[in-house]
Amino acid sequence: MNSPLHIALAGNPNSGKTTLFNYLTGARQHVGNYPGVTVDKKEGNFTHQDTTIRVIDLPGTYSLTAYSVEELVARDYLVNEKPDVVVDVVDASNLERNLYLTCQFIELGIPLVIALNMVDVAKKRGITIDTKKLGTLLGVPVVPIIARSGQGVDQLFDTVITTGKQIEHSTTLLRYGPDIDEALREIVPQIVTGNLLTDTYPARWTGLKILEDDEQILDKARAADSELTTKLIERSKTLTHHLQSTVDAFPEAVIADHRYGFIKSILRQRVVSRVFDADRLYTSDKIDKVVTNRVIGPLIMAAILFGLYSFTFNFSTFLVDWLGSLFDILSASVDNTLPNGPIKSMIISGVIDGVGGVLGFVPIIMFMFFGIAVLEDSGYLARVAFMMDRIFHFFGLHGSSVMPFIVSGGIAGGCAVPGVMATRTLRSPKERMATLLTVPFMNCGAKLPVLTLIIGAFFSSHQARYMFLATVAAWIVALLAAKFLRMTVLKGESTPFVMELPPYRFPTMRGLAIHTWERTWQYIKKAGTVILGISILLWAMMTYPGLPDTDTARFAAMRQEISSSQQIDKDRQIQKVNGREAEARLRNSMAGRIGIALESVSRYAGFDWRTNIALVGGFAAKEVIVSTLGTAYSLGEVSADNTSSLKDRLARDPHWNPVVGLAVLAFIMFYAPCFVTIVAIANEAGSWKWAVFSMVFNTFFALILSIAIYQIGMFLGLG
Ligand code: GDP
Ligand code: MG
Repeated sequence: MNSPLHIALAGNPNSGKTTLFNYLTGARQHVGNYPGVTVDKKEGNFTHQDTTIRVIDLPGTYSLTAYSVEELVARDYLVNEKPDVVVDVVDASNLERNLYLTCQFIELGIPLVIALNMVDVAKKRGITIDTKKLGTLLGVPVVPIIARSGQGVDQLFDTVITTGKQIEHSTTLLRYGPDIDEALREIVPQIVTGNLLTDTYPARWTGLKILEDDEQILDKARAADSELTTKLIERSKTLTHHLQSTVDAFPEAVIADHRYGFIKSILRQRVVSRVFDADRLYTSDKIDKVVTNRVIGPLIMAAILFGLYSFTFNFSTFLVDWLGSLFDILSASVDNTLPNGPIKSMIISGVIDGVGGVLGFVPIIMFMFFGIAVLEDSGYLARVAFMMDRIFHFFGLHGSSVMPFIVSGGIAGGCAVPGVMATRTLRSPKERMATLLTVPFMNCGAKLPVLTLIIGAFFSSHQARYMFLATVAAWIVALLAAKFLRMTVLKGESTPFVMELPPYRFPTMRGLAIHTWERTWQYIKKAGTVILGISILLWAMMTYPGLPDTDTARFAAMRQEISSSQQIDKDRQIQKVNGREAEARLRNSMAGRIGIALESVSRYAGFDWRTNIALVGGFAAKEVIVSTLGTAYSLGEVSADNTSSLKDRLARDPHWNPVVGLAVLAFIMFYAPCFVTIVAIANEAGSWKWAVFSMVFNTFFALILSIAIYQIGMFLGLG
């Protein structure tokens, strides 16, 4: 059997690569028009006229420089994997800009076929393109298609297969002006005779990259032959100097100018004709006049984001509740069938609670991502990023950071797990890292019951005001932390807002469904595996070692005494004893011992061991804080919506006062993210290093903050 024909789809973001890929393979694939989503390589197989074809969806790029991850990924793939044919997907309605990348493919000397996509859009705008002429001028076959409907795709692959591997085009098609051409004439022969990287790259391309001062190629060249490279760099410096003094530009800019010049000269030769006025406003531009208006724009944005938010959290509740009761039923049936003992306790509190906790997020994630998919596929998300960029830029972030922040609880009540996952739209690795490390500072839905409890206990007269302040505080802390990270461990240039604003489009139901499902499944798959283990570990920490037999016997005797006595409220008395036994067991457990040991530090912030245990437990999920506090204060299990007795208990407890309340509040808002978020961070950052960093950094920060609050508050005598 022949090995399959190897095809790569390359092109600008939003040119329709993924749409074509989906059409070809029918694979579950993300379809969106937010630039830069396709960061992974995606593969699939299909057959065309008895030929098996393996196709790869490369990340969308505007250029092939070494500045961004996508561009490096794309060009490394092209030169290292050497696909048989590269299908350059070109957006016919944005021909000029799209051909810039095409020029660079031509320079790279790879076998190329152009899929001139979105001819339907071009036609609507009154643009017609003479594909034959374009092909002749570029020296590359051009086939018009509509990837969305599949029109023209058969002809495209006829061309790919028939002309396939024989496609040869001239890598010297482009000229860069006398100075650069001269420099190339000198250095290219030296590259050829010195065999510098010639196994991988065409010599002329290497020469061009050396003149462009391309870091990756310079590093590779130095490693291969440092002497020759030094010589070539000398020549490049002479050129740079010359261009600087004559045209006040770097070689890179001059090269880019000539590429655009080349494109312009082609398009001007009656390749493109317009029926309408060139300066007619397209529908998208008309919408943008209103939607990105400096005054009305932000108002519309606030309304839309708030709508998305309400949609997600209001409509997902019934599913969350439904899942919750499903797991309650499951727990109850295990409770009834299994004999008492550690196995039962582990299955209920470790396995079912842990898995239930993970799946409990699923409806929220699904709804949130559906909402985001609508904004993204319609093109609106790019406008939000555009409007927010100025503010975020100041803190070392990017306009695209706004969505992750909002999803994570920027409007109190989100969830950091989808928030961390939503950072994928950020293209610069450092901005992305700074975003994903700071989104857990937002007030997610799981922190809300705890905040409500403490605010209710100590600041009850101003509940709403404190809640609002907590939201504002979260934003301030997150943005300042981002600024801090960007000035220290994540130091580096801010990327300019190069994202183009794609035209508005009606999202397709199929696109939305695929989009939503893909991300949800990723969460279930990745989070699910690790979480079970950690959940069991936390259960063990809160259970072992159990109470010594003498204590167990003592509590049993107390219960015995109550039931044989004449008291009227026996049940309540027994409950009290049970509560005290649970408290004693928790105190004696590993988590309890940790809580007690932590007192040596935490007392500076005013936390006693009970609070500490709850905070340790809160690492599993912030909701656990309330129930653990309940157990530690011998109330037995306290659920999130039944906190009144715990609230009174805290308000009356001598260890607690408003200052302690505020210190605990600050700590809970900012300490280590829950472990589901940690797992998400590790996945998204690609290493556990950043996940651990986030635990340590946040906890340390929260501790300092709450110590400061406690010490200052007590000093001022507010306690
Ligand atoms: P990629 O970034 O290159 O992967 O682009 P996508 O495949 O995600 O497509 C971007 C947007 O263009 C999506 O909303 C597609 O539905 C839309 N699209 C793709 N091809 C066509 C086409 O031929 N005609 C029209 N009208 N829309 C298209
Ligand atoms: Mg794509």
